[in-house]
Amino acid sequence: MKIKETRTKIIATYGPACEDKDILLNMVKAGADVIRFNFSHGDWDFHKRGMEQVHAINEEYGLNITILADLQGPKIRVGQVEGEAIQLVKGNSLEITVKESVSTDDKVFVNYDRLAKDVKKGEKILIDDGKIELLVTDSNNTDTVTAEVIHGGTLTSKKGVNLPHTKTSIPALTQKDKADLDFAVEHGANWIALSFVRDPEDIVSVKKLIGIGDDKLYLKVIAKIEKPEALNEMDEIIAVSDGIMIARGDLGVEVPQEQMPLIQKDIIKKCIKAAKPVVVATQMMETMIHSQQATRAEITDVANAVIDGTDAVMLSGETSVGKYPVRVIETMSKILTNVEKADLIYNKDLSANPQSPTFTSDAICYNSCNLSKEINAKALIGMTRSGYTAFMTSSYRPKAGIFIFTDNRKLLNTLNICWGVKAFYYDKFVSTDDTIADVIEILKVHNEVFIGDVVVNTASMPMNQQARTNMIKLTVVN
Ligand code: PGA
Ligand code: MN
Repeated sequence: MKIKETRTKIIATYGPACEDKDILLNMVKAGADVIRFNFSHGDWDFHKRGMEQVHAINEEYGLNITILADLQGPKIRVGQVEGEAIQLVKGNSLEITVKESVSTDDKVFVNYDRLAKDVKKGEKILIDDGKIELLVTDSNNTDTVTAEVIHGGTLTSKKGVNLPHTKTSIPALTQKDKADLDFAVEHGANWIALSFVRDPEDIVSVKKLIGIGDDKLYLKVIAKIEKPEALNEMDEIIAVSDGIMIARGDLGVEVPQEQMPLIQKDIIKKCIKAAKPVVVATQMMETMIHSQQATRAEITDVANAVIDGTDAVMLSGETSVGKYPVRVIETMSKILTNVEKADLIYNKDLSANPQSPTFTSDAICYNSCNLSKEINAKALIGMTRSGYTAFMTSSYRPKAGIFIFTDNRKLLNTLNICWGVKAFYYDKFVSTDDTIADVIEILKVHNEVFIGDVVVNTASMPMNQQARTNMIKLTVVN
C-alpha cells in the first residue's frame, strides 16, 4: 500500500468523522502516523472500536500507527445543554451551578464541585477555548455562582471551562482518568497524554500507576502543557516526561495569547535538547473543520511549527468531527513535504556538544548523526530495546533516514511519533556482521536503501549481550 510519508509526524484525533474504517484507512494513507483517542469525549465502546481498527490496519498493511490515549485530567467542563445548543447573550445574567443538570440559557452546569468556593467576584470564567467570557458577579460559596455574559455565543455540550485567575485545588488524576488509563493500556495504547499538568509530580503519579518494568518499556507518557504553573517548571516536567504536547487550545486561554508563539519555540527547543518528542497541537487547520481549504495563516502556522523543529503536528476537531478528515491530512502532508525540502529544518544542535558525553551511547548517536551529514549518508540505522537510540538519533533531526530495529514489538508503534523515525522488527542478535547485513537487506526489500547508498550503522558489540550502543560502522550497500 502506498502511504504518504513525511519526516514530521501527523497526529489525527479519532472521532465520529472518522469512525468509518475506510475513512480512517484513507487518513493513514494520506499520512496520519498517530491516532489520538481523546478521553474527554466518547465512551469506552467508541474508543475500543477505534483502537481495534488501528490494530487491524497495522496488521493488514504492516504499519506501525501509534495509539495515543489522551486523558482528560482535571478539566472543567459544562455538561449537556438543552437541545443541540444554547445561546448565551451579552449583558445577560446567568447562574452557574455545580449540581448536575441539563444546561439552559439562564442556568449552566459546570462539573467542578468547588467552583463556588474557589472563584471570587470579578474573576473571569471562560468557556469553549475562551470564545465565551463570563464575569463572576456573586457566589453563594457552596454550589452556585452568578455571572454576567461579557462575550456571548453558541454553547454546545461538554465544552471546556477555564478559570485563568482562579487557584483551583483539583487532583491531577481523577477517578475517570485512572479508569481510562487502565482501559487504554489494556487496549494497546503506546502513549498516554495527561492534560493540565501543573508540576512534575503529576507525571510521576501517572508513571507509578502504569508501573515500571521491562514489559512496560513501550508505554510512554506525554505531559500536556496548558497551565501557566507548568511553564514555571518546564525543565523539571521535561525531565520526568517521555514527551511534551504544547496544548495551545487551553494554553491560549490560560496565558495571554500573544505569548504563545515564543512559548512554543522555547518548549520545542528544550525538548529537542532533551531528546524528548514534542507535539504542537490545536487549531492548526481549524478552518478545515468546515471548509475545503485552510487559511494562509494556518498553512504558515503548520510550516512554522516544522521550522521550529516539532516532532509532530496534531489535528483535533479537524479529523474527529470535521467535514474533511482525509483532505485535511492530505493538505497537511503537502505543507510538511514542502517545508521539509528546506535545509534549515535539519541537523539541529549538531554544532553543539552531545548531551551527556559521559554516556557512550549519547556520544555514538551524536557522532553517527554528524557523520551521516559529513558523508551525505542515505540512512542511519540503529538498534534499541527501550527506544532510547531512536529518541536520541531523532533529536538531531538528521537528513539521513532514521531506521530503528527492535525486538520489542509494541515499541515499533510507540516510536512512530518521533520525528523521522521508521521502526522495524528484528530479533536475531547473533553477530554484528550478520545483523548489519540483515537489517540492510530488510531496508533494501522495503525500498528504503539501494545499491551504492552509504549507510551509518550503530550497534552494540558484542551483539548477543544487547548492551548500550557502542559502535559506529559505515557500509556501502551492495
Ligand atoms: P484538548 O487538549 O484538546 O484535550 O483540550 C489540547 C489543547 O488544549 O490544546
Ligand atoms: Mn486542553
